[in-house]
Amino acid sequence: MRPSLSSTRVIGAANVAVILLAVLALMVLPGEDPPAPAAKTGQASLRQPPRAATPTSTATPPATAPVSPSAQPSEPGPGTGQPPAVVATPEFAKQVKANEAGLVPVIMYHRIIKKRYASIDRTPDQLRRELEKLAKQGYVPITAAEFAAGRIAVPAGKFPVVLTFDDGHSSHFGLDAAGQPKKDTAVAIINDVARRYPSFRPVATFWVNHYPFGLQKEAEQAAAVQWLHRQGFEVANHTWSHPNLRALSTKKAREQIVRLERMLKRLGVPPSTTLALPFGNLPHKKKAAAKGEWGGTPYKFDGVFLAGAEPSLSPFAKGYDPGAIQRIQSNGKKGECRKWCSQYWLEWLEKHPGWRYVSDGDPERISIPRKLQGNINPKRRAQVNAY
Ligand SMILES: [Zn+2]
Repeated sequence: MRPSLSSTRVIGAANVAVILLAVLALMVLPGEDPPAPAAKTGQASLRQPPRAATPTSTATPPATAPVSPSAQPSEPGPGTGQPPAVVATPEFAKQVKANEAGLVPVIMYHRIIKKRYASIDRTPDQLRRELEKLAKQGYVPITAAEFAAGRIAVPAGKFPVVLTFDDGHSSHFGLDAAGQPKKDTAVAIINDVARRYPSFRPVATFWVNHYPFGLQKEAEQAAAVQWLHRQGFEVANHTWSHPNLRALSTKKAREQIVRLERMLKRLGVPPSTTLALPFGNLPHKKKAAAKGEWGGTPYKFDGVFLAGAEPSLSPFAKGYDPGAIQRIQSNGKKGECRKWCSQYWLEWLEKHPGWRYVSDGDPERISIPRKLQGNINPKRRAQVNAY
């Protein structure tokens, strides 16, 4: 709920400009062709051997990488439902068409209710259908915290997706008398889809204000957020009372963030590593969103998330801004969502698989076609596995 239409339009227009620039930047990188359009089979055809690559390239594979083209299982990954890690060789990365500088959809949901009142509301059926579509297309959810930290432990050949729910609405989560997620809540639907599609990892991010999930009593709030945390879901900061941070002084903006952090601490969950901006609006002093202090309590986020309107760059990509991460509103293709909402973008990514983030199954290495390696943030160069 709550984004204003005018600010959404402004953000939308700004985002169009940003993605056009990003597309142009990718196209003009020296010696690097843009990904070819998808063939009829839906397979990317961009993996031509590079003509100019030399063994002295900056992206020499790590010395420890085995020469076998097949990935070798290593120890199981940490956390809930993480796949066993593999060691990706260049040959293996090529086989699975890994592209870890590609685009990642971070989908933004608000209320999940049977009778929609606002265009950004989704029904339980709409959420279920979207999650099933993601599962069938090969997406695997990770949390916003994992995304922002670059902990993308998704099986080889699969695509990360981040499911995010704003405002801590009661339709996102609640426990029934038996201690199970209430029917038709976001959590119940995510768990149900994961049961039927075992590759679909049941995790998501819930960005809450005070009164998380509509709960008034502190004991109920604590039980809810601790249950989610134990199950691998992320509960994190959406400010105390959901103000427009742009309209506040820097001090007041920091107070809004810190008061919510103090609440989460009282409720017994770890400090937030991500923040979603109310209305997608940054404070005047942009850096105050990511890091600061109020009343002696510091905060520091790996990622600050906007409210629209395109897939995010990979956290390993040159140009990725952890202080302003893009999201996509979940919606069909009507009205303002003719473009820029989830149905549009998920169809676009299916038609342009060369632009999508494709995992190599190896969280330690960043695999990418050699001709696209210029798209990786130079600070990550030591991790690059180019093929
Ligand atoms: Zn909100």
